[in-house]
Amino acid sequence: PLLGVDQISKPTDKLFGGLLAAGFDEESCLSRYQSVLYRKTSPFKASPYLISKLRNYEQLHKRCGPNTQPYNAAVEQLRSGQSVSSSSTDCKYIVWVCYSGLGNRILTLASVFLYALLTDRVLLVDRGKDMANLFCEPFPEKSWFLPLNFPITNKFDSFGQKSPESYGNMLKKNIIKASTESLPSYLYLHLAHDYDDHDKLFFCDEEQALLNKVPWLIMKTDNYFVPSLFLMSSFEHELIMLFPEKETIFHHLGRYLFHPTNQVWGLITRYYKAYLAKADERIGIQVRTFDSGPGPYQYVNDQISACTQGEKLLPAVDAKGRIVPPSENSKLKAVLMTSLVSGYFENVKNTYWEHPTVTGDIIGVHQPSHEEKQQTEKPLHNMKAWAEMYLLSLSDELVTSAWSTFGYVAQGLGGLKPWILYKSENQTTPNPPCQRAMSMEPCFHAPPFYDCKAKKGIDTGKVVPHVRHCEDISWGLKVV
Ligand code: GDP
Repeated sequence: PLLGVDQISKPTDKLFGGLLAAGFDEESCLSRYQSVLYRKTSPFKASPYLISKLRNYEQLHKRCGPNTQPYNAAVEQLRSGQSVSSSSTDCKYIVWVCYSGLGNRILTLASVFLYALLTDRVLLVDRGKDMANLFCEPFPEKSWFLPLNFPITNKFDSFGQKSPESYGNMLKKNIIKASTESLPSYLYLHLAHDYDDHDKLFFCDEEQALLNKVPWLIMKTDNYFVPSLFLMSSFEHELIMLFPEKETIFHHLGRYLFHPTNQVWGLITRYYKAYLAKADERIGIQVRTFDSGPGPYQYVNDQISACTQGEKLLPAVDAKGRIVPPSENSKLKAVLMTSLVSGYFENVKNTYWEHPTVTGDIIGVHQPSHEEKQQTEKPLHNMKAWAEMYLLSLSDELVTSAWSTFGYVAQGLGGLKPWILYKSENQTTPNPPCQRAMSMEPCFHAPPFYDCKAKKGIDTGKVVPHVRHCEDISWGLKVV
């Protein structure tokens, strides 16, 4: 119930067991310390080692972050285009380039931050058009945003698979190799879906030893590449220490990094209080179709009801309209739907308005927006998308759509193992319609299949028991 949402009435752990640092100005980012009022207590605790790693990172960020002396020195080196020998810089950086849809961005930012933690680099975030309107600063004192006068920001758009500055192309053309002594001051790392075999050598220990010496790495990616880091001997041990519960990587890093700005927090909390707070149970249903037309399609309506009723997430209805007398156990269940279109929501809502449920439960169905298509240029568009991912993460049970990073973000932040609606073939309802996820981790959609030591192709989903192929993409990899 709504009780306790505004007045702190339950014993609160607003720092999530030490995951978050204390001492931020609360007003400037209300969500940081208020989210505990909306979230159920997570059964997963951040390890003491992760917590100390984060506190150390915060110190590093403070010492090396924007406009500090080491930052200015490193930028000067970049500007002058000098090549570097191994020991010439104090602080090393990785720049995350703003790229792709919002769900992808959240997953890649978490991946790049983890890579920064593992390699003692400072993460700096290209703010793109709207990153600063969506997310609060996660680190105390020094900003995570790349300063606007960074010398090569104007190159970011043109960076791509063919760029001569990319590490993959430099390897291909033999401009750089493990024994190279004089290295460039920056390298572009292309880890987007269209990357090639040379770009993928990023995931080899030998190449990491070389990258380690380059002061500036600039990365463009639309993939959650964490599962492949687990397969590298340079990182594996540290990852296991940081995340003894392996499937909690995005769960903890996401809760640490991604705090909605006050404007987005307004969207979230008003919606929650108006439509979700009073329910006995909250069910999230995220509908994302990758068909060419916009829909809605009847086969998706059928899939949603087959999954939610088949898995007993929602009750069946009595088609004959017999009224079931309300029992003491009857519940109010709030269904939060998200989709670019309103048709699926209309169908679920009408089902439970026009017919009684066999259990006597009352089902309220809500959908915050229907933006019709992805339209990042509208200022509120990504704010709504972020608010909806967050609202889905506050559900008790979650249904997501195959292939969608939007759903991965919700499940990870919520600590939920969702039921995944399978991707349909030929516009027919898949059978079974959905499957429970093995873990709450996101799927890496385009992993490498290469054994760096043996220098041959392998099935990277069969190397260790905790990195497997995903439920929704047979060639993808996820941590379980
Ligand atoms: P993915 O394409 O499903 O992996 O997710 P992304 O978030 O990376 O890209 C999809 C984009 O489409 C989102 O960022 C939104 O801009 C938009 N979008 C997709 N589904 C929804 C939805 O249910 N609600 C809203 N508000 N936007 C959506």
